[in-house]
Amino acid sequence: MFWSDATHLAQFGSASAWPVYLFFRNQSKYLCSCPTSGACHPIAFLPTLPHSILDFVSKLSKKRNYNDLLTHCKRKLIHRAWKILLDDEFLDAYRNGIVVKCYDGKLHRVFPRIFTYSADYPEKVLLATIRDKGNCPCPRCMIPKAEFYRLGFISDALQRVSSIRHYFRECVAAARDAIYKDGSPIKGTFPEMRLKAFSLNTFAETLGPLGFDIYRALTVDLLHEFELGVFKSVFRHLLRLLHAINPVLGMNLVAILDARFYQIPSFGKGAIRQFPSNVSEAHQCAARHFEDVLQIDIQCAMPVFKGLFPPEHDQEIQTLLFRLAQWHTLAKLRLHTDHSLKLLDKACRLLGDYGAAIRDCSTMTTSAARQPKSFNLTTYKLHALGDYVCNIRLFGTTDSYTTQLGELSHRLPKRFYQNTNKKYPAGQLAAQERRHTRIRRWQDVDTVETDMVDTVETACPPLRHHYMSESPRNTINLAEYLGKHQGDPAFSKVCVEAF
Ligand SMILES: [Zn+2]
Repeated sequence: MFWSDATHLAQFGSASAWPVYLFFRNQSKYLCSCPTSGACHPIAFLPTLPHSILDFVSKLSKKRNYNDLLTHCKRKLIHRAWKILLDDEFLDAYRNGIVVKCYDGKLHRVFPRIFTYSADYPEKVLLATIRDKGNCPCPRCMIPKAEFYRLGFISDALQRVSSIRHYFRECVAAARDAIYKDGSPIKGTFPEMRLKAFSLNTFAETLGPLGFDIYRALTVDLLHEFELGVFKSVFRHLLRLLHAINPVLGMNLVAILDARFYQIPSFGKGAIRQFPSNVSEAHQCAARHFEDVLQIDIQCAMPVFKGLFPPEHDQEIQTLLFRLAQWHTLAKLRLHTDHSLKLLDKACRLLGDYGAAIRDCSTMTTSAARQPKSFNLTTYKLHALGDYVCNIRLFGTTDSYTTQLGELSHRLPKRFYQNTNKKYPAGQLAAQERRHTRIRRWQDVDTVETDMVDTVETACPPLRHHYMSESPRNTINLAEYLGKHQGDPAFSKVCVEAF
């Protein structure tokens, strides 16, 4: 399972890295979700376009807008980097397997397979080589954007199956010839006609003939698509509505909302933390600061919003918030059965019905807001909610491949960055990662050897009365132990015999 995500390495400055992480699906998901377990393997730091490219392009072309060319170069760069990773050695292992000495000390022939690739939407666009904000923005299917509002309809579910995305190798080859041999512009007539929704894809070119489908491997992403996507936009739209109806009712409803959030006490260890006193303002800022707030908002939003809207809309908003919380709870379950998946499917259909309700509520903004803004139902993030049941059936529960694991793994390169000289950090980060992995392997070998010694020691005949371990680990101070259990009838006889 792969993860990749660009990240800022320091709080100040523009230093960034683009690591690719590898997890083994055979390992427990609970082990993978622990950032200190060593289950995450950084395998590469993807390069970014150098700043000097702008000077280079400006000398070649008289055009002032290079965005198309830069987007094309960025896409080519990431796929060229993946071409290096998916080299002949990897393809040979993919076809014929690779002999590996496993934990049991025996040699096994292992066939590596790419199970999932988790990334946020901009990276999915690069990996699937689809057009950002194009007609078909979903990396898994070819449903047009104009039909995304039909989330939850039976026709939508059928179309998801019938319109699965495929790679059209001939179209890509013809467009590449037009660009590179005939000098046609990237957004010229011929490439546009051929490449309306596709481009050269390394995964499809190298692993496609071996049966791998990159489009299917790009899984859904609960963190970015729902918690920071759909729910955040619904929450912001509700705030917009409250701002719009404030002057009508003569009350500061947003201040009431903030006060209600602030009144919610903390619960459990990190389950619900204390809300800030200005939740409404916090949501206007960058998403990364408020991920925690957003995640727990979903469960707390219903009582907080109750009674703030006019009576004719209040019940609708309450039902919408309930549907969102219901869908989120079911999608985030760590164990699923056929029955729970049916419930999730039903929750998705009900949520699709209420998507139209919030669009209808947006008529309220037109009367009071300076710039009327309606809720956008034609986004990829809303469309992706319909793919969760299928993805859970294929790849397991969402916590196994959520991008949250990749976000947690960023701690490692950020820690390495502290030891670099802050200039061209990618190479230094890679060197430190290699050193860290080697040390970790030596430690693991020591642990394995110690564990094996313990295993041999404990394998004593069951008829033997007692056995003294040579290992000094797990020692108990007898005086302390007996003192602690003073008065316990189970220990009285043992004490007498021992002393
Ligand atoms: Zn789709």
